[in-house]
Amino acid sequence: MSDFADIYDKIVKNKYDFGTGSWAVVNDNIEMKFDKYGEYHPYQKNQHYQYSEAEVDQLRQACLSTSELNESDIAKQLFSSVKGIKHDDDLGYYSGLYVGHVTEGDFRSNGSSGGFGTWILSQLLKSNEVDFVINVVESHDSGKLFKYSISNSLDGVKSGAKTKYYPVEFSEVINVLKETPGRYAIVGLPSFIMELRLLAELDPIIKERLKYTVGLVCGHQKSTKFAEFLAWQCGIKPGSLEKINFRKKQADYPADRYAIEVTGKVNGETQTIVKEMRDLVGNDWGQGFFKVRASDFTDDVMNETADITLGDAWLPEYTQDSLGNNILIVRNPTIQQIISDGIRDNKVSVDAVNASTIYRSQASHFKHTKYELAYRLFKKQKNHEWYPEKRIQPSSDISLIRRKIQDQRETICFNIPKYYQVALSKNDMQYFINNANKLSAQYKRIYLGKRIISKLKRILHLKN
Ligand SMILES: Cc1cc2nc3c(=O)[nH]c(=O)nc-3n(C[C@H](O)[C@H](O)[C@H](O)COP(=O)(O)OP(=O)(O)OC[C@H]3O[C@@H](n4cnc5c(N)ncnc54)[C@H](O)[C@@H]3O)c2cc1C
Repeated sequence: MSDFADIYDKIVKNKYDFGTGSWAVVNDNIEMKFDKYGEYHPYQKNQHYQYSEAEVDQLRQACLSTSELNESDIAKQLFSSVKGIKHDDDLGYYSGLYVGHVTEGDFRSNGSSGGFGTWILSQLLKSNEVDFVINVVESHDSGKLFKYSISNSLDGVKSGAKTKYYPVEFSEVINVLKETPGRYAIVGLPSFIMELRLLAELDPIIKERLKYTVGLVCGHQKSTKFAEFLAWQCGIKPGSLEKINFRKKQADYPADRYAIEVTGKVNGETQTIVKEMRDLVGNDWGQGFFKVRASDFTDDVMNETADITLGDAWLPEYTQDSLGNNILIVRNPTIQQIISDGIRDNKVSVDAVNASTIYRSQASHFKHTKYELAYRLFKKQKNHEWYPEKRIQPSSDISLIRRKIQDQRETICFNIPKYYQVALSKNDMQYFINNANKLSAQYKRIYLGKRIISKLKRILHLKN
């Protein structure tokens, strides 16, 4: 087996590939395409191309599952010398921790949470810290609803507001960055920001031009089929979805009771339909319908290599506000200054919080993604399968019931795309829902068992 075939099989065939596009940045023979499950993967343009040792090594170094550097190494290089910076094992480096929202303009109402994502990028452009912003906007290319795009105007930045639970890849925009001098800011999920940092290690031009990174928290990445299936449930058949807003805020409801808004053809007529997310099959992030499997093999919950990390403030004291709030982890001094100025000028409203408040907002995410990764790695080790080296070590040291939950999440992750393919071929959404419901019912039975055990433990404890 050639060195290329070896790394390709390890990463892509074994599903450790986050679909970022980093390989298509370092190698011209590689391009990013959707597979039939609606996930981005790298493919070879010419199957007979012979890769030199140096090229294979570049691929290795550009991939977070094989790179010699992990998130802690990169974060240390970037942030450890920032004056007054602190470090937390779960949050990574931080100079400021906040919960809140933007009060200036319509950033908050147009955003998914508190509007900080678009506001920070706008501020970087307005204050001439960057010439270009790379964000995710609606795509008019056939077969994809969203894509990364480069903009040098505030309108362009604002047009990228809102969370897209949809795959995007950055090879096209980073190749433009390489050809077009200037200072850039980019927004991205943890694996994307980390692989950009790895690319910057390999290419001084990327390092010089990529000035700021705005990181999002990411429960997990979704395939295109997530959007397609949500729309199908609203009556828009696969292939007919034109637009989707995954995070429509609902006045009078808590922020976590958001809806989706989909536009597409129904019986030949364009319609826009709004449905509450909780009424749709696939709404449970714990079950992880249409999850990109690689998301189960990162331990970077808080986008530790980003200059600032933003997420939803999933905290009871903040979710009551239907307009939404962000959590913020600030690491870069210029961005800290932008936020401090925003506080002074009443452009943002934030509470300074401690690390445990930020942790609490993502407690289940930490449990699944970081701490129970140990068990997922243990299973790989036990089966003598190759697995990427993580900061978390393989271990089976979790309760039996948590192991069952992890096992069922894996079963769901593997089977959902397959059932969906069959449903597509039969043009029968109900086929998918019936099979998906069986997986969910088993998942819920395990949780019921968990609750019963906890109750019994409490009773026994009380009796003692
Ligand atoms: C796939 C995914 C999973 C997420 N999971 C969680 C989670 O588990 N917990 C949590 O707290 N937060 C999660 N988030 C982040 C959260 O949904 C909000 O995006 C974040 O709080 C910023 O909101 P905002 O109002 O400040 O941003 P906005 O002002 O709405 O701006 C959002 C910015 O993010 C960019 N963006 C949108 N989608 C993508 C994408 N797919 N890739 C790269 N950039 C994108 C937009 O272009 C825009 O610049 C997730 C986001 C995504 C995309």
